[in-house]
Amino acid sequence: MIEIELKNLGKIKIEEGTSILEAARMLDKKIADQALAAEVFDEKRDGQKGALLDLSLRVTENSSFSIITSENRDKAISILNHSTSHIMAEAIKKVFPDAKFAIGPSIKDGFYYDFETKKNVSAEDLRLIEKEMKRIIKEDNRFEKSEVSKEKAKKLFKGNPYKIELINDIEGNKVSIYTSGDFTDLCSGPHIPSTGKVKAFKLLSVAGAYWRGDEKNKMLVRIYGAAFFSSEELKEHMEKLDLAKRSDHRKIGRDLDIFSFNYEAPGFPFFHPNGMVLMNTILDYWKEEHEKEGYKEIKTPILLSNELWKTSGHWDNYKENMYFVKIDENDFAIKPMNCPGTILVYKSNQHSYRELPIRIAELGLVHRHEKSGVLHGLFRVRSFIQDDAHIFCTEDQAKEEVSKVIGLTDRIYKGFGFDKYHLELSTMPDKRIGTDQMWEKAESILKEAIESRGLDYVINEGEGAFYGPKIDFHIQDCLERTWQCATIQLDFAMPEKFDIEYMGEDNIRHRPVMIHRTVLGSIERFVGLLLEHYSGNLPPWLAPVQVIILPISEKFYKYGANVYESIKKEDIRVEIDNRVESLSKKIKQAEIKKIPYMVIIGKNEEKTGTITIRKKIGGDIKEIKLADFMSEFRNVIENKKTVY
Ligand SMILES: [Zn+2]
Ligand SMILES: [Zn+2]
Repeated sequence: MIEIELKNLGKIKIEEGTSILEAARMLDKKIADQALAAEVFDEKRDGQKGALLDLSLRVTENSSFSIITSENRDKAISILNHSTSHIMAEAIKKVFPDAKFAIGPSIKDGFYYDFETKKNVSAEDLRLIEKEMKRIIKEDNRFEKSEVSKEKAKKLFKGNPYKIELINDIEGNKVSIYTSGDFTDLCSGPHIPSTGKVKAFKLLSVAGAYWRGDEKNKMLVRIYGAAFFSSEELKEHMEKLDLAKRSDHRKIGRDLDIFSFNYEAPGFPFFHPNGMVLMNTILDYWKEEHEKEGYKEIKTPILLSNELWKTSGHWDNYKENMYFVKIDENDFAIKPMNCPGTILVYKSNQHSYRELPIRIAELGLVHRHEKSGVLHGLFRVRSFIQDDAHIFCTEDQAKEEVSKVIGLTDRIYKGFGFDKYHLELSTMPDKRIGTDQMWEKAESILKEAIESRGLDYVINEGEGAFYGPKIDFHIQDCLERTWQCATIQLDFAMPEKFDIEYMGEDNIRHRPVMIHRTVLGSIERFVGLLLEHYSGNLPPWLAPVQVIILPISEKFYKYGANVYESIKKEDIRVEIDNRVESLSKKIKQAEIKKIPYMVIIGKNEEKTGTITIRKKIGGDIKEIKLADFMSEFRNVIENKKTVY
């Protein structure tokens, strides 16, 4: 007999070879019925605390596990989704008998499976596959695991080049395979105990995907889906996807005439007049807040000699992402970052300890080479403005400076209506410059600065920049997605490499510490993020067109022009729609453009010298004196109101 402990359920003596599920049944039948997998609780097993295992695993020594049910949301949903990819593959095999399967992992919010087939896969086929999956789920087939030799596995997957390649990549001589119903797959697991645990699912889309993500390889078919523990969850998810589709910044960018892309410059956005209004409004606010904090703005060249990038370490660590040009036989690079340019500005003068901290800001245009496959609207582009700043200070000032940057970031985010964000601290990576001692010091300064603000943070081991550890801010948008925007990096290495100094109180030259920091990250991406967060309904202070005047007919053009002039005089971004169209058509057009305020002008308004306001949000209508509207409007703008 051996002893097994199941966390929260208790301990029990069992026969050697009893499965975890059987042991759970002896302790608590109800929990056992809900169980999906087990998590290793002690370190003995494979030395892997936290590893997830099948419930069918037969226990041969004293062990402890915790039982995973749908309550352990993150772990459970990924097991459920991955298991559903097996179910989908089994169904695909029925619909497309020639299918050769590659990989089928769970991903955030779902799963996919890649496979090769000679046929075209249509939306209609997805419905056929779904029907087949429902049958498989109803059968409640168990997922059975077995271990076989590589040799046997290769026989089993004969004719499937993808699985053969995967088998060859596995270390050791044994591989694990899983069978449920009529389908056997190469997989390390774990899976739900049986197919019936899938309570709701939906196949979402078909796409093409290269084997191993490499464009030199064969293009496979990828079907995406998502699985859930209840139909309510599925419904909620579908609503969220629908909102995400409507909020896609590429669509909104077209509707609001903000930006476009052209094949003549792939990955390089073109900003239209409305886009420039939005971008300049963002930057004006940014400059205002930075001026308050004592930042001075500079501008440095886009092209800088290769030598400089060799000194900075970018040549060794970042070359793949850079563009290069030749001028008069000399080699130059287009800057991917603003730091070396800023250092040259710092070095152009002598500095004394009395000047520190020196905060130098640059809204610098940077270029970074991104693979064409990852480009995505404004979210992933090849050139963008980084709202950069570098702080040069003493080591003693570093903590206070980092803390101030955290405060500034918080204020600016709230100004844009982002109340939710979290912090992550990334530490020493493998590819790095500087000594271990420098890294330790830098990491502890960042930790203390976060803690001094009473904030929580997550640690990302080994994820720091090559020149220093960093704090990242992850903003949460209205679709509950997170976006890494601000970053604060502490750097002892670059001041060393560039030999920068200040004169100390002791009349001796000292090395300053350098803090790299950005609040919004890429302005282009931030524009995309704002458009999606607000589904295009930007708060009035950000809206490219804030007010549109809609005369009911041409009889009121004159009064409309008067109102237009009065509003324009107040520096409000106003337009007038004098097209010969019905009012309802004009309103519809203004709604597509998501203009916050519509001013309707007709007979009654002209007679009483008023205007009628229709707000985009809520759409309520009221007649109001022009002066009252302006003071209401000013209040909304000055307080950056998002609800108005
Ligand atoms: Zn699997
Ligand atoms: Zn920098």
